[in-house]
Amino acid sequence: MKSYEDAIAFHGHSCGGLAMGYKAAELAAELLDLSFSEDEEVVCVTETDSCTVDAIQVTLGCTAGKGNLFVNKWGKNAFSFYNRKTGKSVRLVANPDVAPMNTELVELRAKVFSGKGTPEDAEHLHELMHKYTDAIMAIPAKKLFTVKETKALVPEKARIFDNVVCSVCGEQVAEGLCEKVDGKYVCTPCARKK
Ligand SMILES: [Zn+2]
Ligand SMILES: [Zn+2]
Repeated sequence: MKSYEDAIAFHGHSCGGLAMGYKAAELAAELLDLSFSEDEEVVCVTETDSCTVDAIQVTLGCTAGKGNLFVNKWGKNAFSFYNRKTGKSVRLVANPDVAPMNTELVELRAKVFSGKGTPEDAEHLHELMHKYTDAIMAIPAKKLFTVKETKALVPEKARIFDNVVCSVCGEQVAEGLCEKVDGKYVCTPCARKK
């Protein structure tokens, strides 16, 4: 798998969420014997759309474009990983009490993000965030997450379709993803206008 530095380069900054995502990927890699997914051999289903997801994309090669990353916006730090080669899978759920943010950090973040903080507040927040991130990185991944069984089967492999032309708008569309009305292709946005 790729490094935390690679994840920072992609994400734009280091933060607690990115660190949690990295730790989840690290633990999954160990438990399922995963390496960077060139194709679709590693699949991840997340239960959050937070910073965590970027770390998983970069380190294990699960991406939206390859169809081996499925992001659910449920606000839960839980990640299911699948190894398509072995058929093994695992669901990692963040433990609530292992790496709590301190109240100073929570309050300062609210202040700065609402635009009410001074430049000093912003700088102090930056320092606290860094400390928090370092703290997460120092905790063994096995302590951060509870290992559970996955709930769903491994998602289907990405389907590849030929392109056709929508009979309404004349734009190109994947054959398997559009409707056929009276023998003519109609793309989803056009079908919805009816
Ligand atoms: Zn972030
Ligand atoms: Zn159309």
